[in-house]
Amino acid sequence: MSAEQPAPVLIQLHADDNVAIVGNEGGLAAGTEALPGLLLRERVPAAHKLALRDIAAGEPVRRYGVVIGHALQAIAAGSWVHERRLSLPDARPLTGLPMATGAGVVGAPLEGLFWDGYLNADGSAGTRNLLAITTTVQCVAGVLDAAVRRIRAELLPRYPNVDGVVGLEHSYGCGVAIDAPDAPIPIRTLRHISQNPNFGGEVMVLSLGCEKLQPERLLPPGSLPLAAAMTQLRLQDEQHVGFAAMLDALVAAAVPHLERLNARRRQRLPAAKLVVGVQCGGSDAFSGVTANPAVGHCSDLLRRAGATVLFSETTEVRDAVEQLTARAATPAVAQRIVAEMAWYDAYLARGGADRSANTTPGNKAGGLSNIVEKAMGSIVKSGSAPITGVLSPGERIGEPGLYYAATPASDFICGTLQLAAGMNLHVFTTGRGTPYGLAECPVVKVATNSALARRWHDLMDLDAGAIARGEATVAQVGEQLLQLLLDTASGRRSWAERHGLHNALTLFNPAPVT
Ligand code: CA
Repeated sequence: MSAEQPAPVLIQLHADDNVAIVGNEGGLAAGTEALPGLLLRERVPAAHKLALRDIAAGEPVRRYGVVIGHALQAIAAGSWVHERRLSLPDARPLTGLPMATGAGVVGAPLEGLFWDGYLNADGSAGTRNLLAITTTVQCVAGVLDAAVRRIRAELLPRYPNVDGVVGLEHSYGCGVAIDAPDAPIPIRTLRHISQNPNFGGEVMVLSLGCEKLQPERLLPPGSLPLAAAMTQLRLQDEQHVGFAAMLDALVAAAVPHLERLNARRRQRLPAAKLVVGVQCGGSDAFSGVTANPAVGHCSDLLRRAGATVLFSETTEVRDAVEQLTARAATPAVAQRIVAEMAWYDAYLARGGADRSANTTPGNKAGGLSNIVEKAMGSIVKSGSAPITGVLSPGERIGEPGLYYAATPASDFICGTLQLAAGMNLHVFTTGRGTPYGLAECPVVKVATNSALARRWHDLMDLDAGAIARGEATVAQVGEQLLQLLLDTASGRRSWAERHGLHNALTLFNPAPVT
């Protein structure tokens, strides 16, 4: 073997698999001896699959020990196995599933994990100390932007313990079928985001006046157990004479909230006060080998320390539904998992789509042939602990636990719904790369491969690529991630925060727009 041709790295995840993925960054050339006696018949790109043996037409193709598809034609050993050579298996029916069979693994309690955070009156805790201004309708967004700029420039320098001011803007509120059966989803999402632990119980609501989503509907009396005080402003009120008066009113209203937030200090808190949302985006075939298993290991450590973990992305776990129902802590939890999957199947069908719409051109270029293969790599982010709760879109967590928070896989919608669930720290894995960030909560991004981590050296917070090279174990990277999460929760800024990168809140509104 010449110096220009590094030793082939093949990653086979299960003894029954008839494919392995190529770990070498540049892929492997035709003619390479990938294993003794196994010559590559064509070039196989990095993270893509090669056939370990001859696969007959119609025969199952296995990765992770599960059938990810059937060969559409005979595939000779040493060939590239890509999406055009595979059929997509039918979705598993939602009947006859193993329900709460005790498949979840409970590890020994992990003591002594602490972080420094802002304790709230209701017992939740913030990783950041932010003033959030909630809105009832998109119409006010321009005025709010101008007011937020003024608050940042004129007020924030006087309140050094406040990390920032966030305008909670969205596209809901007017022109919506507000009494439709699914309308509670976007409404409760906004209600619960207003009470995210990173906002310290301070609530400012900006409304227009004529919109369908009136402030009393967004935040009905009694829905704000956390709120120290609520301020409401309505732009159409007669007291606001002109644009400048609107801004003056908003800036003045922010002062008492900022004073209270500024008086807060970080204090030592147990890991149990963390609510960590995990998701992936821009996935490749390394996602399910490196970053996601490391996140799964970290999720298990967090659970053993009593923290809450949220995993989501319904389309991306649909094909692993039997693993989830088996891991449910109780039959009632298993039943709720099934109900969320059934609701989502019907939602997709109503739109003339199914789960196969999920896989993106980037996923396929990254070696993921279809949604089954993607799902098997995605589900591992949830670790192996019992699933203790299920949240419908926009619902908020109760007791600490491992929650399946049902959301679409869309990065922005998933992040928005996890914020509503009470997330105070976000873990995001990517193989293709995305600069994703949120203004409301720190996002820690984990690269699935070192090529991405090197290219995006000031966007990726952790590189899980060493796992594919055999230079680090899943457990080692998982422990590294845990430490990074504790540091980030305590105030260390993620790359996205340092650059001020954040995506817009994106509501999930399955209800009609009028
Ligand atoms: Ca996603």
